[in-house]
Amino acid sequence: MYTFDPNHPYTIVHPLEGESIASFLYRFRQAKGNRISSARQLGEILEVGTVINRWEDLLFGGRKPKQKQVEALSKATRVEVDRLWQMFPPKGEQSQPNTIRICAACCLEDSYHRIAWQFHSTAGCDRHRLRLLPRCWACEKDFSVEALLKELRCVHCGMSFKSMVKKQKPY
Ligand SMILES: [Zn+2]
Ligand SMILES: [Zn+2]
Repeated sequence: MYTFDPNHPYTIVHPLEGESIASFLYRFRQAKGNRISSARQLGEILEVGTVINRWEDLLFGGRKPKQKQVEALSKATRVEVDRLWQMFPPKGEQSQPNTIRICAACCLEDSYHRIAWQFHSTAGCDRHRLRLLPRCWACEKDFSVEALLKELRCVHCGMSFKSMVKKQKPY
């Protein structure tokens, strides 16, 4: 059994600018020395049930994230509670479940999932003045948070993010 021992804490993973909680959780679990194989396992370690699965799937409606759960995550990750909250949608902000939208230009600079891409209110990327892609331009399959961290292309058909940037409309 894998239990959390505060005397032997996990490798620290620093949140990236605008990063989503899903992206952070993947990086934390898979960081060298951590190797927490699943969201479920991390949930068990933190004693928060299945909320980690929901956060990795970017599901924030219904059962909202709770302060206690975020505090448990803070203890294990040693990232401040306030900083962890920044990776969730702010109060009053509706976020899209399931569909992961991306700015391919942002990914080319640094490939990870940004929380703002999930907000209904986000029409495009302010940095590049481009509309977000709701799915792969070529094969129309969904993007995944985990794949974004590893590959600068669609993992289904291989279309590169470099080519996808050219398909993003200005806004
Ligand atoms: Zn961008
Ligand atoms: Zn594709």
